[in-house]
This record gives sequence, C-alpha cells and structure tokens, in this order.
Amino acid sequence: MKKIVAVSFLVIVSIVLVGYNIEELKREKKQDIAFRVEVQDALNAPYLGPKKNILIVPGHDNIDVGAQYLEITEAVLTCELAKAIIEQFNHDARFTVYITRDCSTGEYTKAFKEYFEKESDAINAFIIEKRADTKRKLLTGNIVENIAVEHTKANTRTTKILYGINKWANEEKIDLILHLHYNSDPRYDNNEKGRHSGFSIYVPEKQLINSEKSYYIGKKIHSLFMSAFPTSSLKIERGGFIEAQSLIALGSNNSLTVPSVLIEYAYIYEPQARTKEDIIEKAIYTHLGIVKAFFE
Ligand SMILES: [Zn+2]
Repeated sequence: MKKIVAVSFLVIVSIVLVGYNIEELKREKKQDIAFRVEVQDALNAPYLGPKKNILIVPGHDNIDVGAQYLEITEAVLTCELAKAIIEQFNHDARFTVYITRDCSTGEYTKAFKEYFEKESDAINAFIIEKRADTKRKLLTGNIVENIAVEHTKANTRTTKILYGINKWANEEKIDLILHLHYNSDPRYDNNEKGRHSGFSIYVPEKQLINSEKSYYIGKKIHSLFMSAFPTSSLKIERGGFIEAQSLIALGSNNSLTVPSVLIEYAYIYEPQARTKEDIIEKAIYTHLGIVKAFFE
C-alpha cells in the first residue's frame, strides 16, 4: 500500500512537472512570437521623428577601380555591398539613404555628376582653402601632424571627386557618410593572394572637427563587427579601429563638418569576402551598427 502511494505520488509529481514544462515552453514561444511581431511593427510603423540622412560611398569607380584580385575589382565589390546595405535601409523608415554611384552601371549618379560639373570651380576653391587653412594651423602649432597609417595618395581626379562629395555632404548636413572599401596588400601580381585578412574601421583623427561624432558611430559599428568578424591581421590596423588624419574621405584638412566612417570590410582576396552570404551579413551588421549609434 505504502509502495502504491509512493509510486502514485511520483507519477503525479512527474505529470505536474511535465505539464509545467510544456506550459513554460508554450509561454516562452508565445513571448518569442510576440517579440518578433513587436519588432516588425516597430519597423512597419510610420516613423514621425527626424530622419537620419546617410550617404553611402561605394569606394572607387569605373576609372580608378581600387584593389583587384583575379577578375574582381574593389569598385564592383563595394557596389555589390552598397546594394545589400541599401536593401537593409529600405525596410527602415528612420533613414533616408543617398548613394554616390549608380550600381547598375558603376557610374556616378546623375545628381552627383551634375554637382561635380556645376560646382567644379567651387570645389577647386574649397580644396585650396582647406589645404591652406591646415598649413597655417600646422605652422602655428594649432594642430600637429599625426599619420598613423600611410595610404596611397589619391590622384587629382579622385581628390577632386572626394572633396566634391565632402562639400556636398556639408551643404546637405548629412548625418553620416559611410565609405565602403575592401583592403589589399601591395602585390606585384593581382592573381596572387596577399598575407593579411580581416576588417578595419577608420574614423577621423581627434584633431579634425568632425572627429567626435564619427568616433562614437565608428565605435558602435566596430563593437558589433567584433562580435562577428575577425579584425585586420595587419600590425598597424591591430584591433581594427584606426583614427586617420590624412584621408580625404574622413575629412582631412577639416573639409568635413559632418561625421564620416570608412570601413575596409575584408581583404579582397579572402574567399568568403566575395560570397553573397558574406556581403548580406556585412550589410545587416552595418545597418544594425548605424541603428545602435543613432537610436540606442
Ligand atoms: Zn579602397
């Protein structure tokens, strides 16, 4: 009799426990679904706050194609990534996204082409003024030279395009310029792989007038990227976060009053870097990093 009572007690306890577990699981699942709906609703809801304006600059163009590996050029790869990033922002009413190149042809968009033409003289004057101002400040000791990583100097045509983009972004009060690049080691043969791998994020050096906000946004993206991708194995890019003083894209010579972040997403010859999956994943993380920077 005692035995039967004991066994019955155990059975009842087990049934209650199993029942409790199922209920618990159901509740968790419900919460999970509710959470997802909530998130979707947030993205679908009309956004009434001020929109953030993002300018995406897919690095290089049809003339200066950037890094190369086999038949792949950096200019094409950055455009593929730009398309995937825009796809992410298209579902997010909190942003208005601009792009410098038409990624179906690789050419600059009509609006940018017209701006470069119409503002040609003004861009030249802008370059002279900004360079002279920095020269003065260097001479008087108002700023000190701080070159962390040497980069290939842009040629005259590219220099003018990059300063033109900066001038436009200042006038339009863009909230963030995002420059997309793929890194490479200097090699004699573009069919050869280089030695290094990983991503790195460049922000304006702290003496530049747009450094503070850029640093904050760059750090947010960087910490998110750190959780998913390996950082650059190149010694001077260790940690994958670098402040740079001489990159026009980041506002060298104080040519930018708005934030700018430049990402080297991977080294161009890394096999995964050229896959659709990697491009989409990097696009998702880029969007999320920017959301965190502006809204969390
Ligand atoms: Zn590049």
